[in-house]
Amino acid sequence: MQWNGRIMDISMEISEEMMVYKNREENRPRIQVTRDFIESSAYETTVTFGMHTGTHLDMPLHIIPEGNTLDDLKLNQVICACKVLDLTKIEGGITRKHLAEKDIQPDQFILLKTRNSFQDAFDFEFVYLEKSGAVYLKEKGVKGVGIDALGIERDQPDHDTHKTLLANNILILEGLRLADVPEGEYLLMAVPLKIKGTEASPVRAVLVDFSNRESEGS
Ligand SMILES: [Zn+2]
Repeated sequence: MQWNGRIMDISMEISEEMMVYKNREENRPRIQVTRDFIESSAYETTVTFGMHTGTHLDMPLHIIPEGNTLDDLKLNQVICACKVLDLTKIEGGITRKHLAEKDIQPDQFILLKTRNSFQDAFDFEFVYLEKSGAVYLKEKGVKGVGIDALGIERDQPDHDTHKTLLANNILILEGLRLADVPEGEYLLMAVPLKIKGTEASPVRAVLVDFSNRESEGS
């Protein structure tokens, strides 16, 4: 079989120096070499991190008691048609009004490209998805919603955005890096680790561009 899509990595690198949510030290991953060639004939590493580190998938259990976990994930929920929306002009919250200007189809995984993709340090004023935007995407019947911040909402006390999406089994990707990705349609692959019973997992998120569109700036 032959295919000629262009593969784009939209994942954060995991390191001890990486951006972590609200710069909390307890969220920082630890990477330890547990065997090396000085004492052994093999090289091995142990990594300790929270499941919401870097680019990751949130399952309903994250916010909804008794919600679905990774055990319930169908791979066609994270290997699927996707659309990147360019919302880089927006400050603050993405609302229903912003999204109503875009063509959004049912069963697409929608990725929100904002000015967050151009920042490498944690910004306490990051662009987020407001509840009205989440309700709109739910009404549109999307499969999932991704954003280029480590959170999809910012200090909403009742987690309205998370609840609106996850209660309807609309999955959430956080920590995407979309600076080099033009608005358009892609194949998304964002497969989590298969860890029993958990509410989230880091993913290696990739887009495949089958459109033959010119890449930006190269
Ligand atoms: Zn999360």
